[in-house]
Amino acid sequence: MPRAFLRSKVGTKLYDVMIVGGGGAGLTAALYASRAKLETLLFEKLIPGGQIATTDLVENYPGFVDGILGPEIAQKMEAQAKRYGTQFAYEAAAGIKQTGTVFEVQTAEGVYAGRTVILAMGASYRTLGVPKEKELTGKGVSYCATCDGAFFKEKEVIVVGGGDSALQEGIFLTRFASRVTVVHRRDKLRASVILQERANANPKISFIWDTIIDKIEGNNRVEAVLLKNVKTARTETLRTDGVFVFIGHDPNTELVRGFLDLDAKGYVLADELLQTSIPGVFAAGEVRKGSTRQLITACGEGCEAALAAQKYLEN
Ligand code: NAP
Repeated sequence: MPRAFLRSKVGTKLYDVMIVGGGGAGLTAALYASRAKLETLLFEKLIPGGQIATTDLVENYPGFVDGILGPEIAQKMEAQAKRYGTQFAYEAAAGIKQTGTVFEVQTAEGVYAGRTVILAMGASYRTLGVPKEKELTGKGVSYCATCDGAFFKEKEVIVVGGGDSALQEGIFLTRFASRVTVVHRRDKLRASVILQERANANPKISFIWDTIIDKIEGNNRVEAVLLKNVKTARTETLRTDGVFVFIGHDPNTELVRGFLDLDAKGYVLADELLQTSIPGVFAAGEVRKGSTRQLITACGEGCEAALAAQKYLEN
C-alpha cells in the first residue's frame, strides 16, 4: 500500500485507534482493534516485532511446542493484523498532542489524527556507559546476539548481565563462539531456573561473579576488557573478541514525556484498565509500569488495551 494513502491531513481522516509501536503489545492491539472494525493505524519506526524481532527462539509462547523463531512470530503477527485491516505507517512518531477529543501524532511525513491512542513503544537495551563502549559498538561490542553472533565463530566472547536475556543469548552464542564468559555484578543470577540449568550444563559457558566491566579496550576492534571485582576492588584484564551487553532496558517514552504521567524511571503509569492519566490514551507492554516483560503478557495487554479503547469509543 503506498504511503501517501496512509497519510491523513488532520480533519480529513480520523482513525479510531492509533497504536505507537509494533512489538507484541502493539501488534496484538492492532489485531483486536481491526477485528472490532475500528479504523486502526500502527506506527513502527523499524521492523515490526520489537524485541522479538531480534530474539533467536521464543520458547515460552504457548502453542509452539518446539519454540518459534522471534522474527517468524513477529512477521506472522504483522500479517495477521494486516489481514484484518490494520494500516501500517513505517514512520517514527515524533510528537503527540491533544486538541479537544482528538489526538494528533506527528511524524516526519505528516500529522495523523485519531480518537484514541495505544502506547506500545516498549523499551530499549541499556548500555554500560564505560570508556570505548560507544566507539567499539559494531566492532566487537554488541547488544544483539541474533544479529551479530555469527561474526564470532570460534572466538571468545563476554556476556554482561545475569538476567534471562544474558543467559538465553549467552547460550545462543555458544553455537558460534568457542567460549562464552558471563560477567555478572552479583553472585546470584536473576535468570529463570531453566536457563540457569542450561547455562550451567553448557561446557562452553563459564561465570565471573561479583564483577563489572570498568573499561573496554582495543584499537578499532574489541581486544580486552578491564574487569573489577565489586567486593575486593581488584581489577584484572581479560582478553576477549567480543562484549555482548544484556543488562536490562529503559522505556521508550521520550514521545510522551510531559504529555502524560510517567514514574521516576520513565515508565507510563496506567490503571487496571490500562488507561493512562489522559482518558483515551492507553498503555500496553513493556512501556507500562508494572509490566511483567514477557511476550505473552505484552500480547495480553495489547488485547486489553484494544478492548478498553473500544469501550472508550462506544461511550
Ligand atoms: P533484567 O531481568 O532486568 O536483568 C538485567 C541484568 O543485568 C540483571 O542481572 C542486572 O543485575 C544486570 N545489570 C543491570 N544493570 C547493570 C549494570 N549497569 N552493569 C552490570 N549489570 C547490570 O533484564 P533482561 O535479562 O533483559 O530481561 C528483561 C525481561 O525480559 C525480564 O522480565 C525477563 O524475564 C524477560 N525475558 C525473558 C526471557 C525468557 O523468558 N526466555 C528471555 C529474555 C528476557 P542484578 O541482577 O544485580 O540486578
